Amino acid sequence: MHSVLLVEDDESIRAALRSALTERQFSVVAVATAAEGLRETAAGPVDIVLLDLGLPDLDGAAALRMIRGISSVPVIVVTARRGETSIVQLLEAGADDYVVKPFSADHLVARMRALLRRTNTTAAAEEQRVVAAGGLHIDLLQRSASFHGQHLALTRREFDLLVYLAERPNRVVTRRELCDQVWAASEKASDQTIDVHLSWLRRKLGETAANPRYLHTVRGVGVKLVVTT
Ligand code: CA
Repeated sequence: MHSVLLVEDDESIRAALRSALTERQFSVVAVATAAEGLRETAAGPVDIVLLDLGLPDLDGAAALRMIRGISSVPVIVVTARRGETSIVQLLEAGADDYVVKPFSADHLVARMRALLRRTNTTAAAEEQRVVAAGGLHIDLLQRSASFHGQHLALTRREFDLLVYLAERPNRVVTRRELCDQVWAASEKASDQTIDVHLSWLRRKLGETAANPRYLHTVRGVGVKLVVTT
């Protein structure tokens, strides 16, 4: 169960959100002022904060900055109208997402769950700083890789490719997936581009397409990094 800190001065909205969120399996702490919100954030742990921007004691953006001063908890700001404060400013002040009043509880909860998923994935990725598969040892923080104890001199792209495959050993990864996950959306890597990078990577692992040990091409589908234990 995720815990939510709800900071909202309007009593009827606060009560409605509290019951809607409780019904949807969140544990809710609801407060009416920015000062209380800050106190609860500091007391923690809170999984996500819903921060109304129109609070009696402190400007919403200032409250947000103060929360950011003490915590990296995900924050969704709740704003009364689109123009109230520039959304860009709020995102710069550290908001992770925003909803505009009026909104349905279902809409809000969908945004909360999406944000919690993103946050959890990031946290899990940060914890997992080393990837080891077969003779490969990859240090994600240092961005260095070695193969049977030998340092691999990889370009940034080769490194990212290797990490992506090594995190999914023995699973066929399609070129489409590699394009989406390893190349930026703006880059639009062609199949040929991906194949070229795979062949460079393969060479650095000391193997050929005709006689692969690790990087196996699955014709018409993609590639997999084979690890036998
Ligand atoms: Ca308000």
